[in-house]
Amino acid sequence: MQNIKLIREDFPALSRNINGKPLIYFDNAATTLKPKSVVAAMDDYYLNGAANIHRGVHRLSIEATDKYENVRKICQKFINARSEQEIIFTSGTTLGLNSLALSLAVQKLSHGDEVIVSAMEHHANIVPWQLLRERKGIVLKVLPMNDKGELETQHLEALISPRTKVLSCVMTSNSLGTINPVKHITAVAHAHGLEVIIDAAQAVAHGSIDVQDIDCDYLVFSGHKVYGPTGVGVIYGKEEKLKALPPALGGGDMIFSVTWEKTIFADGPVRFEAGTPPIAEVIGLGAALEYFMALGSENVERYESTLLKRAQAAVKRIGGLRIIGEAKEKVGILSFVIDGVHPHDIGTLLDGAGIAVRTGHHCTQPVMAFFGIPATTRASFSFYNTPEEVDFFVEKLTEIQKFFST
Ligand code: PMP
Repeated sequence: MQNIKLIREDFPALSRNINGKPLIYFDNAATTLKPKSVVAAMDDYYLNGAANIHRGVHRLSIEATDKYENVRKICQKFINARSEQEIIFTSGTTLGLNSLALSLAVQKLSHGDEVIVSAMEHHANIVPWQLLRERKGIVLKVLPMNDKGELETQHLEALISPRTKVLSCVMTSNSLGTINPVKHITAVAHAHGLEVIIDAAQAVAHGSIDVQDIDCDYLVFSGHKVYGPTGVGVIYGKEEKLKALPPALGGGDMIFSVTWEKTIFADGPVRFEAGTPPIAEVIGLGAALEYFMALGSENVERYESTLLKRAQAAVKRIGGLRIIGEAKEKVGILSFVIDGVHPHDIGTLLDGAGIAVRTGHHCTQPVMAFFGIPATTRASFSFYNTPEEVDFFVEKLTEIQKFFST
């Protein structure tokens, strides 16, 4: 990465010492650190305005509304949507997926209708559909994966029946790092008239997203995974799809008129934004996406891939270490287990050396069950990480393995 020293200065957390050692932050798949510009944008809103949006005629409200609405345009550019009318703000991927599940349930799912998800979904793309299974009697089908953690897309067509209505699939796996061929999957699903939802929670931070190229009907992501604040996320929906979709939530701001007899909903994305939205967080998200786009997603992708390759090659020399997720197409996520060492022990010992990783099932218990393990240790890389950090991590990991094997 060019100017890595300067980039790191944008993230004050990277100058901290943890347990007497410089912080090495490898927990980016859980959440990314935030650059100063994101915090500054949110501070500016809170300190110089903090007015509510849309409903005010006074200056502060108009300013806040302009800032908020401008982020729709930034998001449109970020995922190459056709129009900013296709960008809905929500609290994150989880609420995005739940809202879409509820709206689609009202619009088109009846008892016996089928929804397909993949074998590597985050719980956020499993549980909402299971709730519908309990409440409405829908059927949940699973597109399988192979031992490398790659989807067996050749089986997709056979899974689809006349009762299949929706396919909801993760673009990049948070526990395996696999990049799924979502454009191909979408094309197959569309050939059978399915609605396609893409969970881009992990994909957003590691490369470019082009919703027009993928041609998905809906796509969701969280701000905090892409250097933005928590509490904000985006639902993208094709404009013609959103026009026909019933809102999952009702309340203020999403209406045109309300009488005791009838509510007429507002037009456009606000129809799906009931209540006061996370205004500061939306503004912070705008700053985060601008920061990310200025770096260039191809540069980020290329750089993180060199970190991953360096780490993968080095950890393979550690005895008893097994990488979980060896797909050909991967982002900078390295999940692994070491024989005889519990991931939580690895995580705690790495923390002692100032290294933050995640250990556990990563909200993908079916993935853990598939590989026959309870948990992994996951190191996930960002553009602000360095090869030296990777080397130090591997050195510590080697020590940990030796300690437990003697
Ligand atoms: N899907 C994937 C692939 C994820 O990695 C995550 C977060 N770990 C989610 C969904 C849920 O995101 P959030 O908790 O921000 O709603």
